[in-house]
Amino acid sequence: MRIALLATRMAVVLPLAFDPAQAQTRTELLDRLVRAYPEALSGHDGKQIFWRDGTAMPVDDGIEDKSFEQRLRGASILDQLRLPYPLGASAAPAANADPGRFRNEAFFRKMYGDCHTGAVQRNLVTITWLPRSWGKAVQVTRINGVADRLKEVSADIDKLEPAIKAAAFPIAGVLSCRPVADTGKMSMHGYAAAIDLNLRYSDYWLWAGRGKSIPYKNRMPQAIVDIFERHGFIWGGKWYHYDTMHFEYRPELLAR
Ligand SMILES: [Zn+2]
Repeated sequence: MRIALLATRMAVVLPLAFDPAQAQTRTELLDRLVRAYPEALSGHDGKQIFWRDGTAMPVDDGIEDKSFEQRLRGASILDQLRLPYPLGASAAPAANADPGRFRNEAFFRKMYGDCHTGAVQRNLVTITWLPRSWGKAVQVTRINGVADRLKEVSADIDKLEPAIKAAAFPIAGVLSCRPVADTGKMSMHGYAAAIDLNLRYSDYWLWAGRGKSIPYKNRMPQAIVDIFERHGFIWGGKWYHYDTMHFEYRPELLAR
């Protein structure tokens, strides 16, 4: 009872917004975001981020204690940064650990454009995916150097053993102007900043059925995951709601 009372008083006296530890984390997260997109962002003041074109955008929506579903369907910029992404080899994700699936749509639409208006398409460039193994043309966004980074990913994967790199081609796609199945929000494929690898090596949480808990499955080689992460891409295999052929450019979650 005393503990409960104390907790109540603490909640009144120290609301989260004034907790110094929380404030530091918020600053660190926003610093990381600004560092991750140097071409687009110039800074932040803890409340807003500033784009190089002079636009300011609020980092928070003022809604506290949002549920997982609320964050998935209406993420603020801070929500987008909240869940830590584990680098390297990792265990099966805990329930609802989906680092990267909270995306602030206004942020990414401003960054890469709106695929419905042709703005994303105007920034597409062609790269050759795995020139030594598959060698087909793929169109990706040039914004944030995504095309150049994917070229580096491609060159690194091309050096792997044939049995390992077989998971990386033929690719299932890059640009797709459609929302994510379970969120209604635009996928990173809508910005041409994500790539789906070989469908035959792929596992997807929705294919496992909508049970109480989702059994984890993966056939994507760790060597391929490591290469993508080195170049600024996160992997959908690290999500509780996993999508193991999926990689998207999210350097804000990889910077340390
Ligand atoms: Zn995908």
